[in-house]
Amino acid sequence: MTNNIVLRKLFLRLTHRKSEPDNYSPPPACPQVISRDQHNVSRQKIGDNALKVLYRLKNAGFEAYLVGGGVRDILLGLQPKDFDIATNAHPEEVAQLFRNSRLIGRRFRLVHVLYGREIIEVATFRAAPQATGQNPHHRQSEAGQLLKDNIYGSVKEDAQRRDFTVNSLYYSIEDFAVRDFANGISDIHKRQIQLIGKPEERYREDPVRMLRALRFAAKLDFNIAPDTAQPIFRLGELLTNIPSARLFDEAQKIFTSGYALHCWQLLLEYQLAQHLFPACINDLNKNPTAAKLIDQALDNTDKRIQIGKFISPSFLYAVLLWHPMRKEMSHQQESGLPPLPALQQAANLVLGQQTKTIAIPRRFTIAVREMWELQLKLPNRHGSRAEKLLTHPRFRAAYDFLLLREESGEIKAGLGDWWTNFQEADSEQRQNMLSELNKTEPGSRKKRRKRAPRIKPPTSK
Ligand code: ATP
Ligand code: MG
Repeated sequence: MTNNIVLRKLFLRLTHRKSEPDNYSPPPACPQVISRDQHNVSRQKIGDNALKVLYRLKNAGFEAYLVGGGVRDILLGLQPKDFDIATNAHPEEVAQLFRNSRLIGRRFRLVHVLYGREIIEVATFRAAPQATGQNPHHRQSEAGQLLKDNIYGSVKEDAQRRDFTVNSLYYSIEDFAVRDFANGISDIHKRQIQLIGKPEERYREDPVRMLRALRFAAKLDFNIAPDTAQPIFRLGELLTNIPSARLFDEAQKIFTSGYALHCWQLLLEYQLAQHLFPACINDLNKNPTAAKLIDQALDNTDKRIQIGKFISPSFLYAVLLWHPMRKEMSHQQESGLPPLPALQQAANLVLGQQTKTIAIPRRFTIAVREMWELQLKLPNRHGSRAEKLLTHPRFRAAYDFLLLREESGEIKAGLGDWWTNFQEADSEQRQNMLSELNKTEPGSRKKRRKRAPRIKPPTSK
């Protein structure tokens, strides 16, 4: 242990409080302590790496709690997605204890302890912003949004600045009890998502909490308490103040939650989807096929996640933006462009607009374009084209997409089946399928047309 940590431990012991501001007022609630024999959070259910972090912090003299989804999900009999830890050790002190760690975040500084692909997130107790007054470690925009939230506090204070009551339960590695400072246990029993504090204020501090409320309601199959639900309808616009990179991360959490369809339905119901995917929502009501395509894709995504299959974000963005792109493509064709350049131009416009809201990384937008372009190419199977298309790295995704388009009723069924059979056929059967094609579609052996100009994607980003 370094001298620094020893000195701070001594300081903590002598003062019993840390970096409290002048206008500090103690948080209202005393914790309800649920002793080990009264709850089901056992160390067996906590990941080994999270336990290692908890014990190392405790052995270095710090307070250490498992908090957030780890406690909530175990209490509900679910497998936590990840483990989050709260401590009175400052980020630099945590980093000193773990060589396998990195300090992250500006708005909210914390430490990631890395064990292979597993990340244990360690956050220092924070004080609620209203208890702090003027402080360089705290910054709020005029709209009330927290721009910096790095004032350290006690565990009680930390509990008050978390988002929902069910996310504010602390499992102690000292006595294995769960401490409940915000009526989280009662809400676990009531199966409801309830914000801590004044809902509107809490949403203004961080509008992403609106998305989190819907995600947890979908994942846990909880209701949203009326006073937590009601402001969302009015405050959705605040999401436009959130950096696009953060919204991409949130969208990822929604799509990979295993409850993407339910989340999507809530996003529509609470009128938040229009702030995330404006182009997509614009004509969703008028276009039932588009709505069906999205529902089916999200349902498939949830099923794939359930059986541990890989899902690609590009597939979902291709689905969500397909109909807006088609609409734009028609405009481009009307003004004289042939189909492929019209599609490329439309893709530039639609993806360019979307990435302003959600920063979809370029590698995914490239994949989206390829999937879309393949939709134009999949009907042209003559000669060696079909074999060539099969080797395209994006073929499988484009084929799945084609099946979904047929299922949604956008195009008539048939081509998808053809491709299913072609993939399963041996080389002789493939030859037969191609000759059949020549008979049924003789017009396809037409003269080669001059190649249309290719419209390049923008090079920025
Ligand atoms: P899951 O990991 O299953 O998505 P979680 O509740 O653990 O759910 P995380 O995003 O891992 O969610 O965050 C861990 C904890 O940090 C939350 O449970 C909550 O207490 C707190 N937290 C996260 N984001 C916010 C936020 N925007 N505002 C306030 N507290 C937050
Ligand atoms: Mg978590």
